[in-house]
Amino acid sequence: MFRLARRGAAVVLALGLVLAGAPSAATSSYQVHYRVELVPADGLARVAITIDGAARPDALLIRADPDRYRGFAGDGEVTRNGEQVVWKIPPSGGQLRYDVRVEHRRAKKKGLDAEITDRWALFRGEDLFPPTATDGPENEAVADLELVVPDGWSLITPYPRRKSGLFEIEQPHRFHDRPTGWMLAGHLAITRETIAGVKVAIANPVGHDLHRLDILALLRWTLAELVQVLPNHGDRFAIVGAADPMWRGGLSGPFSLYLHADRPLIDRDGTSPILHEMMHAFMHARAGADGDWIVEGLAEYYSLAFLRRSNTFTQRRYERSLDKLAKKGKSAPDLLVPRANAAVAARGAVVLAALDARIRKETDGDKSLDDVVRALEKDRAAVTTARFREIAESVAGVSLAEFFQEYVGR
Ligand SMILES: [Zn+2]
Repeated sequence: MFRLARRGAAVVLALGLVLAGAPSAATSSYQVHYRVELVPADGLARVAITIDGAARPDALLIRADPDRYRGFAGDGEVTRNGEQVVWKIPPSGGQLRYDVRVEHRRAKKKGLDAEITDRWALFRGEDLFPPTATDGPENEAVADLELVVPDGWSLITPYPRRKSGLFEIEQPHRFHDRPTGWMLAGHLAITRETIAGVKVAIANPVGHDLHRLDILALLRWTLAELVQVLPNHGDRFAIVGAADPMWRGGLSGPFSLYLHADRPLIDRDGTSPILHEMMHAFMHARAGADGDWIVEGLAEYYSLAFLRRSNTFTQRRYERSLDKLAKKGKSAPDLLVPRANAAVAARGAVVLAALDARIRKETDGDKSLDDVVRALEKDRAAVTTARFREIAESVAGVSLAEFFQEYVGR
């Protein structure tokens, strides 16, 4: 009954638009309800996606590893060809269901980047809702997420929660919104605070000591600096972490990050793993073919620069840290590699520090690398060396051909 009423309302809206002579397709919307039930005893998440509304797409095309995603079934026509699942949605709307094995190992003999136990579960939205394309009309989804968990469990996600308990999923850059980013459920220890206008939640399963108050203190010194460089951030951020058997590093997601409980806040070389991941999360830059040194170098450089700018480090310690990065970067003969390792990131950070100094010099201190970062964030295209140089030159107002030849080799 309720579903019929909502569909009727959408038809009226569409008619109104036609009468008003405004045929803009993107102003029509449809409803998507994502439902997840965590079943620790089976190591599974049971997923249901319900799509409703006249403006919905004709089909969803989901890329799903057959080993991990199973039992696809639903209304309309569901077909699977290897990794590709196609769900043709019936004209009256309908539901798609499948099961996900939650546990996931990041790499052979490495830790887990998704896990479910009888006390907690830690995963990314992307683990439950893999990459999805739509077929047919492109309209705006109004999406929400329902997480059904065992009694007594708490939930942390990057999304605002309505009084009904549903999470509101809105992604400005996407028509078909999909829950992404880090999520933690279970018996949790949680610290919340608003810092520099961002509602930060820091959480770990009870018994896994993420040093939440240390993180809180570091962010109170440094988050204002990050927000100054990238002011177009969301108004909330989720930091989740756990100890072994989880992956012993940091990983960023949309409006969220994961950090292993044993990682220090500041490494011996002066860079900060948590600020590195936060820089990734705020910038959400994708690397093109030869741009990973830029994406990783920026995260590494700013994780150190924020410590200097917040006066956590003296100028002398900051320069010593750059020297250490330069030494570490010597084992990277080439910056232009498809995947930047730690040495490439370190060498990239040193090049970017030099580029920052050069831009400040060329513009009498008027512009800096911060302006380049803001332009890159607005660009939203994959970051390549050529595109990065183009933006840096437009900020500096001069050719940087010699600089790039000397430091980057292109
Ligand atoms: Zn990184």
